[in-house]
Amino acid sequence: MSELQLKDLYDGFRDPDVIKALAKSIIDEAKHLKEPLKLMEVCGGHTHTIMKYGLKQLLPDRIDFIHGPGCPVCIMPKERIDHAITLAQMSDTILLTLGDMIRVPGSKSSLAVERANGYDIRALYSPLDALRIARENPDKKVVFFAIGFETTTPMTAALLELVEKQGITNLYFHINHVLVPPAVDAIMADGQAKINAFIGPAHVSVISGAKIYQPLPEKYSTPVVVSGFEPIDVLQSILMIVRQKNEARCEMEIQYSRSVTLEGNTKAQEMIEKFMEPRVHFRWRGIGDIPYSALALKAQYAAYDAEKIFADILPTEPIDDHKLCICGTILKGLAKPNDCQVFGTACTPNTPMGSCMVSSEGACNAYYRYGAIK
Ligand code: SF4
Ligand code: SF4
Repeated sequence: MSELQLKDLYDGFRDPDVIKALAKSIIDEAKHLKEPLKLMEVCGGHTHTIMKYGLKQLLPDRIDFIHGPGCPVCIMPKERIDHAITLAQMSDTILLTLGDMIRVPGSKSSLAVERANGYDIRALYSPLDALRIARENPDKKVVFFAIGFETTTPMTAALLELVEKQGITNLYFHINHVLVPPAVDAIMADGQAKINAFIGPAHVSVISGAKIYQPLPEKYSTPVVVSGFEPIDVLQSILMIVRQKNEARCEMEIQYSRSVTLEGNTKAQEMIEKFMEPRVHFRWRGIGDIPYSALALKAQYAAYDAEKIFADILPTEPIDDHKLCICGTILKGLAKPNDCQVFGTACTPNTPMGSCMVSSEGACNAYYRYGAIK
């Protein structure tokens, strides 16, 4: 018997025959839609699946995708990237963060540029690596610039718990964890994007539970399907939405029942609640202030809170994006990347002018990599 390989786990979810059959069912059922479907896929992971597998081309024009704000890198405002740079430039400091954050432009520079300038800036594979780095460098201040939606927040909370248990005193946290539901609410309340259904990210719900999307159908008359990330997951979710519309239903449904429950991972939720609480204000890049849309460390953990400890040196003023960059309009679902006049010319993944081109989950990056679909 041959050994199980990683690809065996997802191959079945990329089967071209199943993809074609699902697309055909959607085409058949979409003929009965009373109005065109304006589907927001909240998460950048879904945008990539749609672009990479050409799902838009398989579906009728009556189904339009609106790319949402679901990438924690894309929505990070410049002033917080400037925070990271300022912290990294302190003496005897190691600045840690995750993945693409390193390359996102702040107001004058990026962490990648500052790393090239000699500052000790490291991208982690796992937040737990911060423990080892703090232990190995007892004479240094180690600052973890924590980013991510509900999916990665438990890792930061787990790291905090270990730091507390092990009595580590040189590891500080700059918390930038953001929450999906308030952002969706802000876009709907704004009213310009004319969205009439949502595909919600499954892995967020693995932690928070599908219950976080339950208010949407009633509040905005929009079906929501919590979807996995493989092409078959996404197509099945679209079919579920089309069926809801045709049957005049408006509900929250779970497509990714392989791992998502209504309640989610309550242990992870408790751990997050132990250390963090919602912030009253958090500015999303291009969208602006969304109240209670992000988390901060609770007051009793101020000794770990880089924003409090180093408050004197951190910039406080909001900083606008480059005037040609329309990331904000894209994140609100009001434009597509190829509406931007510098898309693919002045702005490319090698010369990003905005965060949506940097992040591997950004809409501009997906359009650049997989072809600009109108
Ligand atoms: S963090 Fe998760 S929800 Fe957010 S963009 Fe990435 S894949 Fe999507
Ligand atoms: S193409 Fe570049 S400049 Fe234009 S919106 Fe996207 S990231 Fe911003």
